Amino acid sequence: MLVNWHVDVYAIYNNNSISFYLYDTSSLGCRTQKDTQLKGKTQKQEEQHTHEVHCSRERSRAAWKIIEEYLMPFVEQEKYEISRNCRLHPENDIFRDQEQHKIPVDINEWRCGYCNNIFEAEEFLDQHFDSRHYDLLNVSRKCLADLCGALHCDLVVDSNSKSSKIKCNTAAAARNHHLCESLAISCFPVNHSPSAIRLHELYLRQFCDAHTCSGGRKPFSRGRRKHTSILYLAISILTLMFLPVFYVIVYLYQRCLSNHYITASSESLQ
Ligand SMILES: [Zn+2]
Repeated sequence: MLVNWHVDVYAIYNNNSISFYLYDTSSLGCRTQKDTQLKGKTQKQEEQHTHEVHCSRERSRAAWKIIEEYLMPFVEQEKYEISRNCRLHPENDIFRDQEQHKIPVDINEWRCGYCNNIFEAEEFLDQHFDSRHYDLLNVSRKCLADLCGALHCDLVVDSNSKSSKIKCNTAAAARNHHLCESLAISCFPVNHSPSAIRLHELYLRQFCDAHTCSGGRKPFSRGRRKHTSILYLAISILTLMFLPVFYVIVYLYQRCLSNHYITASSESLQ
C-alpha cells in the first residue's frame, strides 16, 4: 500500500545521541507523528532491556495522588515531618524520582526530564522510563501500590476507567482496615507530639473508617487540597479591572444625558 506522506525529518542531539523525529505535515492541522522512529526502535530495545519491577506504576501513581490531595494538606498545616520509616514518605516510592522527571509540555506532549525526548502520551513516556532509565529506579525502595488497599486507590483508578462497582468483600475490608491502622500507627505515632495525635485521628477518619462493608462511611470525609483554577483567577482579575471602567462609562453617559436634558429644557423656555 502506498502511503502519501509529506514528512519532515528533524534530528535532535541529546546527551551524545541523536534522536530522529518524523513530522507528518500533510494532514490538516499538521498532526505530528512524533518520535515514530524512536518508538519503533526503542520498543524492540525495550523488550530486551525492560527490567521486571513487580510494582504497578499506575497504582503507585494513584496512591501518590491520594496522599498528595487527601493527606499532605493536613500534614503541611500541622508542619509535621513524616518519618522515613513511614511507608507514605516519598522516599518509599520506587517511581517517585521518575515521576518527578515527567514534564507535561502540552496536552499531547510529554518530555522526559532525564534526556529531553518528547512523547505523545504519558504512557509512552512510562514505557521510555521502563526501557531507557530503568537504572534510575531505586528498587531498594518499597512499592507504594502495595498500600492501595488502605488508601482507596480503586476510587482514583476506577473514576478514570469508569469500571463497574465491585461487591464489598468483608475479609478484604478487614485486611485493608488493619493495614490502614498500621499506617496510622507508624506514620503518626501518638506518643510523638500533639500534632501527631491530631494527624493520627484525622488519618483514621479520612482513610480507615470507610474500610467496612456496613456502609454509611465514605473515604476522604475530611476533604482535599483545594485547587485554585487559573481560569477562575483570570476572570476575577479581569472583572476587577473592568468594573471601574464600566462605572466610569455609565457615569459619563448619564452626565451627558442630563446635560443634554438641561440644554433642551432651557432652549424650550426661551
Ligand atoms: Zn529519557
